[in-house]
Amino acid sequence: MRILVTGAAGFLGSHLCERFLNEGHQVIGMDNFITGSVENLAHLAGNPNFLFIRHDVANFIFVPGKIDAVLHFASPASPNPSSPLGYTNLPIQTMKAGALGTHNTLGVARAHKARYLLASTSEIYGDPLEHPQKETYWGHCDPIGVRSVYDEAKRFAEALTMAYHRYHGIDTRIARIFNTYGPRMRLDDGRVVPNFIQQAIRGEPLTVYGDGSQTRSFCYVDDLIEGIYRLLLSDEHGPVNIGNPAETTILEFAYTINKIIGNKAGIAFKPASRLGDDPQRRQPDITRAKEILGWEPKISLEEGIRLTAPYFRRKMGLE
Ligand code: NAD
Ligand code: UDP
Repeated sequence: MRILVTGAAGFLGSHLCERFLNEGHQVIGMDNFITGSVENLAHLAGNPNFLFIRHDVANFIFVPGKIDAVLHFASPASPNPSSPLGYTNLPIQTMKAGALGTHNTLGVARAHKARYLLASTSEIYGDPLEHPQKETYWGHCDPIGVRSVYDEAKRFAEALTMAYHRYHGIDTRIARIFNTYGPRMRLDDGRVVPNFIQQAIRGEPLTVYGDGSQTRSFCYVDDLIEGIYRLLLSDEHGPVNIGNPAETTILEFAYTINKIIGNKAGIAFKPASRLGDDPQRRQPDITRAKEILGWEPKISLEEGIRLTAPYFRRKMGLE
């Protein structure tokens, strides 16, 4: 296949490009570097099966030659307002990537009769009232809350994807991605995994927002990419949760990181008011992914952190 991946210079996009190239496909990566980095793709330079186009997906997209599949991953993704890359600091760009970017990439899929995969998110469930979250749950989102620029853009993106499927017959897929971590996350990304790993490596206390009783379920990037790959090759048009169901409180997670990295500095509790609507619980029900894709994550949190920490040490100039 000849595949267009938007958000190619980002964390997940760069791993996806690599995976498709390794499977023998041709890949066109597209990115405007708003939160991504050219370093994530440097090792692909000179690969005859890889073409990079610097472009903002909010604008009309032209790609030369035939396209068989489009994967739309371009969007800021960190909620942390203390990071310049956080989507609350890029509110209009985030809404444009989710709304106009989804429209333009669906247009590419329609023009080329290509299959289409949208990177959606667990954030469409908001601060969920059902636990764990199944694909049938409609969510609990504040349409004007601080997170709404991301949540509502992704909800619009899902609706538009289904509209193109229902009314234009486009062969679409929707991946609802839960918290994923691993090498190639930016140091200043602001999400909990880069923050905690760097703090632990520097021997500093880990900044837990609130009392740390809020939960997340963390998936290692290789597991996630395998799920996305299988979803693209499947015939499923409804949304599919892709994530690791192993749920942990943020406080337990902080202890785990300190133990693995050998940090003795402990925890520093910070005010919970980071974002007004920090979801209290998040855990995917992955029954559908298991049944339809024969997929489930294989890498434990401990193993994943051990695989990720050396990347951060290198990036911090310590190795
Ligand atoms: P990331 O910030 O590392 O990557 C996003 C990439 O998209 C960046 O390279 C950025 O420069 C690019 N981009 C943003 N707006 C663009 C635009 N208008 N035009 C072209 N490129 C643009 O984030 P990530 O974690 O790799 O997330 C990738 C996708 O997966 C996002 O759509 C995100 O919503 C989704 N997702 C990620 C997670 C996760 O835990 N990592 C969870 C749920 C959903
Ligand atoms: N968090 C934290 N300390 C940090 C960064 C994040 O305690 O330095 C918490 C945050 O409040 C949230 C969870 O970790 O409850 C996950 O946050 P992240 O920014 O990774 O993404 P989210 O899952 O909220 O989209």
